[in-house]
Amino acid sequence: MIDLRSDTVTRPTAEMYAAMRAAPVGDDVWGDDPTVNTFQQRIAEKTGKDAALLFPSGTQSNLVALMAHCERGDEYIVGQSAHTYRYEGGGAAVLGSIQPQPIENAADGSLPLEKIRAAVKADDFHFARTCLLALENTIGGKVLPAGYVTQATDLAREYGLATHLDGARLFNAAVASNTPLKTLCLPFDSVSLCFSKGLGAPVGSVLVGSQALIDRARRWRKVVGGGMRQSGIIAAACQYALEHHVDSLADDHRRAEQLANALSTLPGVELAYIATNMVFVRFPTAHAASLTAWLKEHDILLDPLYADGKTRLVIHRDISARDIEKVIEKTTAYFLRQ
Ligand SMILES: *Cc1c(COP(=O)(O)O)cnc(C)c1O
Repeated sequence: MIDLRSDTVTRPTAEMYAAMRAAPVGDDVWGDDPTVNTFQQRIAEKTGKDAALLFPSGTQSNLVALMAHCERGDEYIVGQSAHTYRYEGGGAAVLGSIQPQPIENAADGSLPLEKIRAAVKADDFHFARTCLLALENTIGGKVLPAGYVTQATDLAREYGLATHLDGARLFNAAVASNTPLKTLCLPFDSVSLCFSKGLGAPVGSVLVGSQALIDRARRWRKVVGGGMRQSGIIAAACQYALEHHVDSLADDHRRAEQLANALSTLPGVELAYIATNMVFVRFPTAHAASLTAWLKEHDILLDPLYADGKTRLVIHRDISARDIEKVIEKTTAYFLRQ
């Protein structure tokens, strides 16, 4: 199957399995897993933070980050289309007693500075206490402009807010913008990174930040059920991905561009945008369902209506150059058949 629904569908390679099998393990709740400890140390160094903590999912890493920054009765400023707000079941409010203060994302994924400014509440017991600004990079595949990130995090500090970055796809941003990961993490107090997306690990996310923050996060991780035992097998997969799967994200970005260019020439197909490993297109409404069915017959999977009538096609390491050719060929054949 050529699965374009998400970059979460990647499977571990034989080499990654071998690394997982060979990893020395221990009980990580006791702090005894050497593979987890080494991996956390390496990722902390790589991101320029004091400490790192491994999680089973990005959702849990983000939730625990919010809980480690904020207390009951606090609020965090976040984008309407941010994963932490929109796609995590409202966890910050449901489990963290943290009120989200969502604001509309601009077209480039940023939160306009004047809207952030207007959203910060005065110190008044009528209001929730504004505690944190949360950004996301990449967002909908788009790399946040570097100058913007500096301005937004400076603004947060001016108001005494902490800053968190949902960097589920920050490696894509680093590769696409040719910027060291450390540089992208520097403006934030905490960053969550996913290894189970384009990097191809089966499971695993990491939260990085100051030692004090990570100590609080370790407590909350246990509370929400994220304390894992011989999780060195997961850390080994993440470590393998870190060493071997980062550079090839550039191939995914190139292939996404190739696919976007080809699809945009088809009659009635409108390219909404292409950014890093994601292509957003509008297929003629009458055709979305039948095109999806036709492609499925040819072993190509896509999610026809991701959002606002747009189809999202996600390129990842399990999509080869030949697969892209096939997707272009079959999609073209579908429209010529009409
Ligand atoms: C995937 C993703 C997450 C976390 O997802 P999990 O499936 O819980 O690992 C968080 N933020 C963004 C932007 C994501 O794409």
